[in-house]
Amino acid sequence: MAHDINKLWEQDKAHFIHPFTDFSVFEKEGCDIITESRGEYVFDGKGNKYLDGIAGLWCVNIGHGRREMGQAMAEQAERMAYYSPFNNLSNVPAIELSAKLAELAPSNLNHVFYSCGGSVANDTTVRIVHYYFNQLGQKDKKIIISRKNGYHGTTYVSSSLTGIESNNWGFDTADQFVHHVAEANCYRRPDGMTEAQYCDYLVEDFESSIRQLGGADKVAAFIAEPIMGAGGVLVAPEGYHRRMYDVCKKHGMLYIADEVVTAFGRLGHFFASEAVFGIQPDVINCAKGLTSGYIPLGATLLSDEIYAVISKPQREGAVFSTGFTYSGHPVACAAALKNIEIMERENICGNVRDVGPYLEQQLKTLLDLPIVGDVRGSHFMMCIESVADKATKALLPMEANVGKRIAEQCQKRGLIVRPIAHLNVLSPPLIWSRETVDLVVGILRQ
Ligand code: PLP
Repeated sequence: MAHDINKLWEQDKAHFIHPFTDFSVFEKEGCDIITESRGEYVFDGKGNKYLDGIAGLWCVNIGHGRREMGQAMAEQAERMAYYSPFNNLSNVPAIELSAKLAELAPSNLNHVFYSCGGSVANDTTVRIVHYYFNQLGQKDKKIIISRKNGYHGTTYVSSSLTGIESNNWGFDTADQFVHHVAEANCYRRPDGMTEAQYCDYLVEDFESSIRQLGGADKVAAFIAEPIMGAGGVLVAPEGYHRRMYDVCKKHGMLYIADEVVTAFGRLGHFFASEAVFGIQPDVINCAKGLTSGYIPLGATLLSDEIYAVISKPQREGAVFSTGFTYSGHPVACAAALKNIEIMERENICGNVRDVGPYLEQQLKTLLDLPIVGDVRGSHFMMCIESVADKATKALLPMEANVGKRIAEQCQKRGLIVRPIAHLNVLSPPLIWSRETVDLVVGILRQ
């Protein structure tokens, strides 16, 4: 379909408030209006075709333009687009999806609460965790420990969990029950520390923070991404998550895995916590890849232990009064079921386990370039860190805008990568082949 791009741009500027946008740059430089997408590619309204290196925003895991996805949603919308999920009402796709998620998730996670995305899933989790401890009579146990540079969303509570300072500049946060500990950044760990020593240091710092905050009486939970995404694709040292989990259990805390990015195949498994990191969290949150971004949906997976408490409140007849009009929306749940069916049928996780290590290996060949300080990540979640000096790891000045300029040069050559300050992130659709990887690494080298 032909579009009047200039008219659209004027309307965009006048009426559409873009998230995470520097309005001064936006007004000066405009934006690319993506009008169509197919498989690994997206197209703008000016006739340009780009390889999508970021799966929209870490989410279009099965690739773009799948007719079956559209059909599944259309059929559900025609049959029964919406009805209330409150109280004693339910719908078929939400029931079937919950059973499927319970089957795919670690064995202790059998209860699903739905929202419309990752921020709301995290926000809701805090509300449920507080309610859970209230039911147990531990009313002072409210602090949630999160990590500096972690990203958990931008609702009021999830933005408070988010530890990226620039994200919250000018906004208020709910500091009364959130505490941030150090992130695990192996590339920029203190000089002279081995990775194992760094892991000891982070775990000890975590445990001493818990003690300082009042220990088991006050600290409710720890929330972490298995691999930190927007904070710089930071892979923690070997054994880190297991040890943080053990500290949580020692102090009667819950472990919340924010798998909004890592679930649904990005690391080669439906959920990464157990399959990759060997832990069974008390809560897993997912969104994005759950529907491959075809429609908004978030899910909070709760353990049997949490459900046993919240489903038997202390007050006779008390109602679990939390939830949304669109919790378990039939059309979104039908899309998630179809997405999972496609992933299983095409063995998408298998493709990630096969091509992922090749992507890592080929991207690491870029380390011979003078500007590339670090190439890190795992499978289909990768990042390149640019530096001014590899020996000192000194950064280029902010005005150099290195991430943005690399992204612009890639885009001119037909590849979209995401700039985050001096970083460039690759989080592609999970259907990339080795040939696509070769093409991408060739463009990045140029
Ligand atoms: N958690 C993580 C780890 C994320 O990466 C994101 C978004 O990028 C979110 C939560 C927030 O999800 P949403 O943007 O769907 O609200």
